Amino acid sequence: MTLFNCRDISERATDYQENRMSWRERLNWKLHLLICRDCQRFVSQFLVMVRALQRPLPETTEKEVQDQLRRVKEARS
Ligand SMILES: [Zn+2]
Repeated sequence: MTLFNCRDISERATDYQENRMSWRERLNWKLHLLICRDCQRFVSQFLVMVRALQRPLPETTEKEVQDQLRRVKEARS
């Protein structure tokens, strides 16, 4: 079997994150990450970014609005 190279890692990052890999590909992925610091950094940054994008934004925004409203009210009284 052929090992993943750095380009494969960046191209398959979404597949890895969404669990669309066979066990063979997953093994390849892990082996490459073991030996390649650049890809370790890339993948950890990629996962952080994906999680940030998946955060439920409307809730966060609503809570921020409520906090802001309360602060405005407190400042006035
Ligand atoms: Zn690499």
